[in-house]
Amino acid sequence: METPSTPAEPMLWSGWGDPAKATELPEPVRKLLADFLGVQGPAAPAATFGEVRLPAAALPPAVLAALAAITGAGYVRTDDDARIRHTRGRSTPDLLRMRAGDGSDAPDAVVLPGSHDEVAAVLRVCAEHRVAVVPFGGGTSVVGGLVASREGFAGVAALDLSRLNRLVSVDVESMVAEMEPGLRAPQAEELLASHGLTLGHFPQSYEYATLGGFAAARSSGQASAGYGRFDDMVVGMTVATPRGTLETGRAPKSAAGPDLRQVILGSEGAFGVITSLRLRVRRAPERRVYEGWRFATFAEGLAAVRRLAQDGPAPTVLRLSDETETLVGLAQPGELGSSATGSGCLVVAGYEGGPDDVSYRGERAAAVLAATGGVHLGPEPGEKWAHGRFDAPYLRDSLLAAGATVETLETACFWSAVPRLYEAVRQALTAALGSPLVMCHVSHVYGTGASLYFTVVTAQTDDPVGQWAAAKRAASEAILRAGGTITHHHGVGRDHREAFGAEIGELGAEILRAVKERLDPAGVLNPGVMIP
Ligand SMILES: Cc1cc2nc3c(=O)[nH]c(=O)nc-3n(C[C@H](O)[C@H](O)[C@H](O)COP(=O)(O)OP(=O)(O)OC[C@H]3O[C@@H](n4cnc5c(N)ncnc54)[C@H](O)[C@@H]3O)c2cc1C
Repeated sequence: METPSTPAEPMLWSGWGDPAKATELPEPVRKLLADFLGVQGPAAPAATFGEVRLPAAALPPAVLAALAAITGAGYVRTDDDARIRHTRGRSTPDLLRMRAGDGSDAPDAVVLPGSHDEVAAVLRVCAEHRVAVVPFGGGTSVVGGLVASREGFAGVAALDLSRLNRLVSVDVESMVAEMEPGLRAPQAEELLASHGLTLGHFPQSYEYATLGGFAAARSSGQASAGYGRFDDMVVGMTVATPRGTLETGRAPKSAAGPDLRQVILGSEGAFGVITSLRLRVRRAPERRVYEGWRFATFAEGLAAVRRLAQDGPAPTVLRLSDETETLVGLAQPGELGSSATGSGCLVVAGYEGGPDDVSYRGERAAAVLAATGGVHLGPEPGEKWAHGRFDAPYLRDSLLAAGATVETLETACFWSAVPRLYEAVRQALTAALGSPLVMCHVSHVYGTGASLYFTVVTAQTDDPVGQWAAAKRAASEAILRAGGTITHHHGVGRDHREAFGAEIGELGAEILRAVKERLDPAGVLNPGVMIP
């Protein structure tokens, strides 16, 4: 597979991605939805752009003038188009609210700084005038990371980082690239490809998400088994805070006290704005091979992928679907609802690298998968997965329009707890939603444990936002009871704040509040996000 290129169009305002790629649901899928889930169409037609209800923009003219003096007037926007496109993120509740014409969380202004110094100056002005600042990368947060509390603030400014979009330098000897945070992943890959390099970070939100967002929300991509999580790739950062600039990371590893990079990674804009990233890069793979394996049961598949994760050789991509996800064909969106996908549990294994390395790892991993009960399905399922790997979010738009509620959630735990966690989340979702379709796959593996990624489909009620909130609450409680983390890669945002507090305890929360107090005494950075 070639590295996909940057979509030409800006993100659809009330859905996912490039409007040109919108997909119609095939008739058999519509029939399945109606027959098995009772989906009968949406409660109301979706609002048009012009029907979105926006609050009056609140920022005083003097503040807007001070911001414009920093960035230039053209880069401080208060028009409806800019405000709507910077409202919330791309979770299903976010999309449902926009489809209902609810623009109540819109920022008052969108500020587009062009450099680290401009970001720093904007933060100073906002701190002085008590304006809440929401750093905005690709706008793909699915955890409410882009909605600031307004209480006690003069207004809210979205800080759009898209103008910080340069590949600053490449140190080929160290395999480190300095890149700016507003680069979307495809732009970053294109720039690195001209040096024969890659990051290897391919989350499902790849087309629109940015490097800054990946670091701020501790993202993990579909090829994490081979390339690692995004936080593994960050060797250094420059961060603008209202108190000044923080530089972190002067060597690959260090024993000089706690690692301050870890304070910024996952801080979701609450501690500062990442204005530059030093990233570990890899040589662009010469060869990519993806293939499918079938296991009779999820338990057998789990044992097989665990063995690969623990004893090697590690594939670059390793994904195990449970029985339901395999049957529905979600790993290959082009096959959705077709009987071609078959029974059992599908494993997609992929190998990227030099030809010898790909052959060596492919053969050795095949021996492990066969010895643990896998049946080799050849390249077709793997190629189909690779071809459709960024398509599922487009499908979500079609499902929402058809009257289904469809949403995902993810967690991680140690291997010994995986079966318990899997059952607990499925039961919680089923109890909360009646008889939904609950699908799951192992999305990321480690020697010590794995991430479980659930996709849920059910018929929309009259209040689909409330319907999902109740289900999500039940799933979150089940996750914590079963020993999982509230998030493996989506981050905390507003949606996971309470559960995150339960996970780290009061002392943990106090540490985070103390850091916030020191870096952002006026509390203007993303108030209400991440910190319990
Ligand atoms: C359809 C879909 C699929 C997804 N698939 C995946 C997946 O496979 N893996 C995965 O990990 N995630 C996935 N996500 C979640 C999301 O894409 C990630 O959290 C991603 O890291 C967000 O990047 P972004 O640039 O869009 O950030 P945004 O959504 O713009 O911001 C995310 C958070 O980081 C803060 N922030 C952004 N930029 C900066 C900065 N420069 N400095 C400080 N703070 C900043 C924001 O204020 C916000 O709190 C998916 C989301 C969607 C909608």
